[in-house]
Amino acid sequence: MSTPRIEVDLNKIRDNTRTVVERLKTRGISVTGVTKAVCGLPAVAQAMLDGGAVGLADARIANVRKLRAAGLTCPITLIRTPMLSQVDQVVQSCEVSYNTEIVAIAALAAAAIRRGRVHGIILMVEMGDQREGILPENLGAIAQQVVQMPGVALKGIGANFACLSGIAPTAATMSDLCDLANETEGRCGPFIETVSGGNSSNLPLVLSDPSISRINDLRVGETILLGVDPVSGDRLKGLHADAFTLIAEVIETESKPVPSPDCLVDAALIRRLRLVSNGDDATRVILAIGHQDTDISGLSLPLGCTLIGATSDHLVISAHQKRPQVGSEMRVRMNYSALMQAMAAPDIETKLLHDWAITQVPPPRTKVQRLALI
Ligand SMILES: *Cc1c(COP(=O)(O)O)cnc(C)c1O
Repeated sequence: MSTPRIEVDLNKIRDNTRTVVERLKTRGISVTGVTKAVCGLPAVAQAMLDGGAVGLADARIANVRKLRAAGLTCPITLIRTPMLSQVDQVVQSCEVSYNTEIVAIAALAAAAIRRGRVHGIILMVEMGDQREGILPENLGAIAQQVVQMPGVALKGIGANFACLSGIAPTAATMSDLCDLANETEGRCGPFIETVSGGNSSNLPLVLSDPSISRINDLRVGETILLGVDPVSGDRLKGLHADAFTLIAEVIETESKPVPSPDCLVDAALIRRLRLVSNGDDATRVILAIGHQDTDISGLSLPLGCTLIGATSDHLVISAHQKRPQVGSEMRVRMNYSALMQAMAAPDIETKLLHDWAITQVPPPRTKVQRLALI
C-alpha cells in the first residue's frame, strides 16, 4: 500500500453527519455539508449526503466541478464570494452562491442570462468575524438591487464566525441575523428562504439555545470531519474524531550524536535535543513526510512519540516505545489545518474505507448518539 496516505473512514463521516443532522433537526435547522477541507472529495461529499446533509458547499469552483464530474446532482453552493473571472463556471456548476459585492452579483446575473438560468444569491452579512460580509446597515439597499436584477434571485442571508478573528457567534448575533432577515423581507418583499447562521462554530450555541428562531441552515465542515468544536478545539461527545488518519513510513531509525549546543542557532531545537538525549531508551525515527505535505504542528503523534523537528520532506521524532522498523508505518491524527493541507498534497494518496460505491452494501444504521461537549 502506498505511503504517505490518508485513510478516510466513510462510515464515521456518515455517522457524524447523521448525528449532527438529527440534533439540528429538532431546532428546525438543516445541514449543508462543507467539503473544502477535503478538496471536494466526492466520496466524502456523498457520505455527508448519505448522513442527511441537504446539500453541499465549497469555497472553490475547482472542487465543485470535481463533485459535478463525479455525478453528484444535489444543490451545491459556492461559499466564497465568486471571482469575477469565474462567474460563468459558478453559474454552470452551482445553483446558489454567497455574495458580498454587487459587481460580482451583476456579473453572475449576466452569466446566468447568457445560459438562460436564474442564479440564487445568498448575501453574506458581516457580524464580527471581519472576513467577508456586507455591513448590516448596507444589507437592505443591496438586497433591493438584487431583487430588481434579472438573472439572479435573492435566496437568503448568512453570516460566518470564528474563521478570521476567532469571534464565536452569540445568542445576540444570531438574533440580530434573524432581525435582518425580517427587515430585508419587509423592504424587498420576497420570502428569505435561507437564513444560514454560520459554520461548525455555531453548533454549541444553537444546540444549547432554543431561541434561534429564523436560523434554518448551518454550513458544517470541521465538526462532521473531525468531531470537534473549532472554537475550543474540544471533542464533541457522540462524534468520531478519527475519521481521517495520516499514515507515514519510517525511513530511518538510527541514533545520532547530539550536536554540541555551541553549533546550534535555534534555542528551541537545543531544548528538544537535550530532552531526547536524556531519554536514554528513546529511538530517533525519521518519517518520509514533511512541511511540503501537511501542517506539522497540527499532527498528533502516537503515544510515546515526541516531535523533534521537521523539514520540507522529513519528520524527525523520538519514539519511547519499541523501536519501529524501517519500512513500517506510523499512524498520525490531524487537526483541521493539517487535514486541509494533506488532502491537497499531490504526493499523499487517499484510501477510502467502507466505500458504498465499491461494496454496494450499506451497513446497518448505528444508533444516533447524543451530541455534547466533553
Ligand atoms: C469554511 C466555511 C464554512 C465551514 O466551516 P467549518 O468550520 O469547517 O464548519 C462555512 N461557511 C463558510 C463561508 C466557510 O468559509
